[in-house]
Amino acid sequence: KIQLPSPVGRAIERLNAAGYEAYAVGGCIRDSLLGRMPEDWDVTTSAEPEQTKAVFNGVPVIETGIQHGTVTVILDGQPLEITTYRIDGSYSDSRHPDAVRFTRSLKEDLARRDFTVNALAYHPDTGIVDCFGGTEDLRQKSLRCVGDPDKRFTEDALRVMRGIRFASQLSFSLESATEVSLRRYAPLLQKVAAERLRTELVKLLCGEQVESVLLRFPAVLGQLIPELLPMVGFDQQTPYHIYDIYEHTAHSVAAIKNTPVLRLTMLLHDIGKPRRFTVDKKGQGHFKGHGTVSVHMCQEILPRLRFDKRTIERILSLVKYHDVDLEPREALIKRWLNRLTPEGFFQLMEVKLADNAAQNPLYDRSASYREIIQMAHEILDRKECFSLSSLAVNGDDLIEMGIPADKELGETLQILLQAVIDGKCKNDRESLLEYCQSHRQNL
Ligand code: ATP
Ligand code: MG
Repeated sequence: KIQLPSPVGRAIERLNAAGYEAYAVGGCIRDSLLGRMPEDWDVTTSAEPEQTKAVFNGVPVIETGIQHGTVTVILDGQPLEITTYRIDGSYSDSRHPDAVRFTRSLKEDLARRDFTVNALAYHPDTGIVDCFGGTEDLRQKSLRCVGDPDKRFTEDALRVMRGIRFASQLSFSLESATEVSLRRYAPLLQKVAAERLRTELVKLLCGEQVESVLLRFPAVLGQLIPELLPMVGFDQQTPYHIYDIYEHTAHSVAAIKNTPVLRLTMLLHDIGKPRRFTVDKKGQGHFKGHGTVSVHMCQEILPRLRFDKRTIERILSLVKYHDVDLEPREALIKRWLNRLTPEGFFQLMEVKLADNAAQNPLYDRSASYREIIQMAHEILDRKECFSLSSLAVNGDDLIEMGIPADKELGETLQILLQAVIDGKCKNDRESLLEYCQSHRQNL
């Protein structure tokens, strides 16, 4: 028995009371049966959109998807999508059905859904409706297309990404005919809108089985990010690495917390390496300047996938600095806290730990990184100064001393900050002003 959230249960009751069929359907039923928290709840109904609107007379509704049969009703302040039983017409562009047709048959609605585990409906009185073997596939942890896989992937190529995304997220495997077909039609992903691909990519990267999915499907991911492909099988020829660049990447993605920014950073952190590879006389590999190249490549890849500016900036900075040498020295740590903000600094340390975890364990640096993290926490706990905002003097104080309010002012503040960070001057007004006076000529 599935515990429906109360607005979902009430919406179904209300539609039933008006003489229509209604079921909770799709991912929410799949996740409930797996004991996972559903991302969203969907209701499918025999009522046509105008009829649904009439049933929810007096409730706020949003008509955004109405041509496709979807009415969003706001119940208890939460949006709930209610979609009319629907048959998707033919797909001539592998993206959008040319036309949708409403139907009175739940089974026909379930038949348009991508995988059998997503084609389950549930009614609180009558239980699960399973027309395509979805419950058995759920037990087997198997992703199988509803109907002919070739047809399903050519209709809507996004399903290729959804397939490997669910494999990663749910730790499922692809049923063999589904997998063959998925690989065959991966090139159709080129036709799919970047935003839709991005959403699936992020969910894939944040999934439990991300490492094995990355390792098994480079050719699929290469449809979104062709820049990944030269990493596959690329032997690094350095003692620090025991994996090729792509294996190292996959390993490092799995080694970091599953937030989108961190997982994307690991996916892309070495993307420029194949372009910067040289071998010296001793046969040792080098990747001089690969950080800069990787950053340039990320500047192309991330906007292409329509990531937002904030996310892009964060990833660029983490990719740029992932290879810097950090040591457990207070002044150095404070400079990085200042440059990256504490949040950015701790993210960088996560990146370095994950990168390190995916390298040759003979060169394990994690103990040193942990010490650095510890020291950074202590600096923050002691509320020590590492940025202009916590410096005990500001621009106005310097103007009072007669320093002109121009570029020099900013430079002087920076010099004072560095003096405090280096322990050459205490962070109080008096000491700072005195330091400023005595160094005035040199400043
Ligand atoms: P999530 O956990 O990300 O919400 P989901 O399976 O619920 O995964 P939704 O995008 O919420 O995905 O879609 C709800 C349902 O609609 C799916 O479970 C599936 O039945 C159907 N569906 C969604 N996208 C497609 C598609 N591209 N092709 C066929 N059916 C789809
Ligand atoms: Mg969903």
